[in-house]
Amino acid sequence: MKFTPEKYRIADEPMKPFIDSEEIWSYINKSVSTKEKVRGIISKSLAKNRLNLEEVAVLVNTDDAELIEEIKEGARTLKRNIYGNRIVLFAPLYIGNQCSNNCTYCGFRSSNNEAVRKTLTDDEIVSEIESLEDNGQKRLILVSGEHPLYTPEYIAHTVKLAYSVKKGNGEIRRVNINAAPLDIEGFKTVKEAAIGTYQVFQETYHPDAYKNYHLYGKKSDYEYRLTSLDRAQEAGIDDVGIGALLGLYDWRFEVLALVRHTNHLEACYNVGPHTISFPRVKEASTLDISHQYFVDDADFTKLVAILRLAVPYTGMILTAREPAHLRNEIIQFGVSQIDGGTKIELGSYSDEQLHESNLNKGQFQINDDRSLNEIINELLDQDMLPSFCTACYRLGRTGEHFMEFSVPGFIKRYCSPNAILTLAEYLVDYAPKNTATKGWEVINKNIEKLEDKTMESSIREKIEQIKSGKRDLYY
Ligand code: SAM
Ligand code: SF4
Repeated sequence: MKFTPEKYRIADEPMKPFIDSEEIWSYINKSVSTKEKVRGIISKSLAKNRLNLEEVAVLVNTDDAELIEEIKEGARTLKRNIYGNRIVLFAPLYIGNQCSNNCTYCGFRSSNNEAVRKTLTDDEIVSEIESLEDNGQKRLILVSGEHPLYTPEYIAHTVKLAYSVKKGNGEIRRVNINAAPLDIEGFKTVKEAAIGTYQVFQETYHPDAYKNYHLYGKKSDYEYRLTSLDRAQEAGIDDVGIGALLGLYDWRFEVLALVRHTNHLEACYNVGPHTISFPRVKEASTLDISHQYFVDDADFTKLVAILRLAVPYTGMILTAREPAHLRNEIIQFGVSQIDGGTKIELGSYSDEQLHESNLNKGQFQINDDRSLNEIINELLDQDMLPSFCTACYRLGRTGEHFMEFSVPGFIKRYCSPNAILTLAEYLVDYAPKNTATKGWEVINKNIEKLEDKTMESSIREKIEQIKSGKRDLYY
């Protein structure tokens, strides 16, 4: 059934907003967590079924330490059994921090007179991308504030520019966007530039709380933001990312609302969000919010595991907002993408002089400053398979997480081989010797794990081609 933007309705429940705060609270308030229920819900998810709101409410209300461990173990098993050990790497590239909005948690807010404002010139964008390519990056997310300067045409221009920069064997093969919501025409414009995922985070799904944090500007319109990804769908963009900024309202509410938003997109467009993000609020210049809803590490870990179980076939992103030790732990519970070598101050990838981080130059404080290579090293130590794969998107296999999840053999046929090939490129082109040694060991181990021997010889053949100079080989 087609979604009608003016009513924000669920497909088979006409005239009902797809986020109904009372309904979400009633699920949370009525649900009781028992051993039997929690175990039944984990089993349902492990049998490849998405959870309903009632079931998610039971999980978010689980306080018993033993059951929380079972939830985490369930998420770990789901990740291991279904997605295996791959982890996709990307980098954010901040294009401009001009902003007309006033979000009280963000360093870019227009009322922040301390902010050092900057929009990269084309030449600066090229330098940034060359530096990112020199480090081995293949996937970017372009980020900006919301400002009349950043029109859909401008965003489309930066995307095309990013794809056009080639340095040595370096190239950017996928450009995602995190920027202001657009109207349908605007989404069509950026689609033509061949964007990957368009991300818009709702920040908080609670309408009253939302008002308190978004003081003025276009972003103060809760419903316009809530329906932005419906407009993206109308414009033909079916690869969208949702998210909630944790720390603005009760995290249990946000988790149920993220699942509701997922259901809404599935019901109306037959495709759920490509990714879910769950950033926690971090220190920022002129940050002005109470700590009342801040989420501690234990709840954060628990909620990531719950999200994994609730929407088993959606990609999950964990960024450098979180410290390395926590990222290393939490990726085990079902995270599929992380950023690496992240710098968020405008122009900082190419500016050798910029060592000190300065809150007035960035949007917020990041807490993981490891280089891409350090991250790859640690992933390899954990027997993970770092991947720069962009094959599905480029071959038009959209909804790949769903396919990974539901099409038997998909991961063995496509994902693992492509992860191996993109890691092989990284090892040949960019890795220091010790990373390369470790990386080839992990590659060999992963090839040996493949049951299909024809696949094994095909991958080995492609690796030889990479060693002799061919690039961008994929299945
Ligand atoms: N200006 C666009 C918008 O608001 O949608 C682009 C988004 S902003 C550059 C990227 C995301 O960063 C926001 O959607 C928000 O969730 C997150 N963010 C903002 N302030 C933050 C903070 N202090 N700590 C952590 N994340 C923050
Ligand atoms: Fe502007 Fe986005 Fe920051 Fe809000 S979150 S002040 S819209 S950059």
